[in-house]
Amino acid sequence: MPTYAYLCSQCGHEFTCIMSFREYKTAKVTCPQCNSPEVKQQMTSFISKTSRKS
Ligand SMILES: [Zn+2]
Repeated sequence: MPTYAYLCSQCGHEFTCIMSFREYKTAKVTCPQCNSPEVKQQMTSFISKTSRKS
């Protein structure tokens, strides 16, 4: 499943969500730290880098 990276506008916390594209379209993403719905989606290119197994 794809991983989506978010940055909270409220507290600056960065977090990732793993969900299907269908969930992504309907899900209301909130910050796990301050519970704010004010989150911005980040570029996820670094995810593929870190998840690569050597
Ligand atoms: Zn937050």
